[in-house]
Amino acid sequence: MKVYINGTLFEQQDAKISVFDHGLLYGDGIFEGIRIYDGCIYRLEEHLERLEKSARAIVLELPWTRAEISDAVVQSCRANNLKSGYIRLIVTRGVGSLGLSPKTCSDPQLIIIADKISLYPEEFYTHGLKIITVATRRNNPAALPPMVKSLNYLNNIMAKIDAQNAGFMEALMLNDEGNVAECTGDNFFLVDKGTLITPPVSSGSLAGITRGGVIDAAKELGIPLKEMTVNRYDVWVSDEMFLTGTAAELVPVIEVDARRIGDGKPGPITLKLLEVFRRKVRCEGRMI
Ligand code: PMP
Repeated sequence: MKVYINGTLFEQQDAKISVFDHGLLYGDGIFEGIRIYDGCIYRLEEHLERLEKSARAIVLELPWTRAEISDAVVQSCRANNLKSGYIRLIVTRGVGSLGLSPKTCSDPQLIIIADKISLYPEEFYTHGLKIITVATRRNNPAALPPMVKSLNYLNNIMAKIDAQNAGFMEALMLNDEGNVAECTGDNFFLVDKGTLITPPVSSGSLAGITRGGVIDAAKELGIPLKEMTVNRYDVWVSDEMFLTGTAAELVPVIEVDARRIGDGKPGPITLKLLEVFRRKVRCEGRMI
């Protein structure tokens, strides 16, 4: 595998950055997780727009244009002969002194890893996932806005540890008001009497690209959609539930906090949206 770092493609074992990079020292940097399906990089423009917003939010000036980053992504896929898989795009603050200040860092690193993806087992899509709510709360937006896709993922990692310790693979995270924000690495949707419901990003979640794809698919199918604050009760009594994320796509949820969702099977609206989503991903984005 070849890994792109600032304009050069390195063999995997030679792809290295400095231990003085603030991306390592402080998690100071940003990233994107992107899918490529049959040679089409899914919604690449939207990923790059989100990356630019993350950069602005943490005052990291990107020394590359969007077109240059886009071309670098394509170059990485071609170099690895990757037609379907996962692309990890990372921008670190760069090498600096040991202090916190990013002012000592002058050379951000653009790293692109384009590789195969290991999906959730197919049985999760057909049988659904059981999840729980964990004690670790989602970052308060006044501290570190969850909309920033930063290299500092400890908040989500701690929630993931909570979930795994309890024997689950994924978990719901609450915000400071006690409403549901998102999962450790996915957004979520509910279905209530035929209406699709998802919390607004202001509830404390990342503006997921998959979430956007599902909203567009719902509009196309004429499924009514509401963005509204969701609490645990709303989740427990919903008819259907599913998670969305770049790696996960759409994963049906059949149980939350030991409460069965709907009839305990992936719901019809969930499965329809999954089908439409999987059909559309091959033609929405940049071809390599
Ligand atoms: N929330 C969090 C915390 C995430 O890390 C991710 C990405 N894995 C998502 C939601 C889903 O976003 P996307 O659909 O853009 O992958």
